Amino acid sequence: MANNNAKKNKGGWSTLILLILIVIFAGIFFFLQFGNFSNPEAEAQGPAKATNTAAPLSATDAAGTSAPEDTASLPTETETAEEDAPSAPPQYPVSDQRVTYQDGFYYEPVDGNTALMDRIRTLSYNEAINTKMSFDKLSYVRVKYIDFQDREEEGEIICSRHIAQDLVEIFYDLYLARYQIEHIRLVDDYGADDRASMEANNSSAFNYRLSTGTTDDISEHSWGVCIDINPLYNPYVSTTNGTTVVEPASAAAYADRSQSFPHKIDEEDLCYKLFTQHGFTWGGHWNRVKDYQHFQKDID
Ligand SMILES: [Zn+2]
Repeated sequence: MANNNAKKNKGGWSTLILLILIVIFAGIFFFLQFGNFSNPEAEAQGPAKATNTAAPLSATDAAGTSAPEDTASLPTETETAEEDAPSAPPQYPVSDQRVTYQDGFYYEPVDGNTALMDRIRTLSYNEAINTKMSFDKLSYVRVKYIDFQDREEEGEIICSRHIAQDLVEIFYDLYLARYQIEHIRLVDDYGADDRASMEANNSSAFNYRLSTGTTDDISEHSWGVCIDINPLYNPYVSTTNGTTVVEPASAAAYADRSQSFPHKIDEEDLCYKLFTQHGFTWGGHWNRVKDYQHFQKDID
């Protein structure tokens, strides 16, 4: 009995080992065949790329390479679509001083528009530190423009009353040429935070603030005589002692102006041509720093 049991046990162990080996080989075979069916790392990175990447092309790439069953990326795509959807600016009462250049292109005083004054009072108007700029020196400008999805949108700009006529004329020509601008919103919609506005690739003018990269120099934007266009693709670039600073930091890829990419402002660009024709200077021509998004008109 003892011998028989031992033999039976030996046979039982052999069968068990054989079964285990079959399972292991089957497992290896299955892994080799379908080993890439799930890649948690790629799934984790995919949505992050879609939201963080500034360039619309990259975002599209990230979405395009997602597996159809990859539901993790769907909410991100929906969020992006909602974020990019056109949002009409508020409608304010028509001022009797409104100057209409073309349908949808007009300007009027900020002073007297109480809803608008309240909207900017603690933000771009910066009542806490603003001792030099007053509402009566500012114009509220409305324009139409073509966005990055080739859709018509309405934009709003606050600027010095001295450049309001220039802006409606320039933006009308940009609109006719279907020149793409991603957003034209008041910087107040970004908490008057210039960096947040730049990172969102928002084009804006008036903002009572310090100059980029300084701690005591009041920016020309405080006087409303300059405007930044598609700032993410046309960053502020400063090089001191071999160290380069790019603002916004997320625009580092666009600091190399020898590269060609969409929405780049250079001397061949229509935006550059129109602003310089209207007597503006371009930050891309500055010596110490380059501010490729920046057009400025010097007012006496
Ligand atoms: Zn600027």
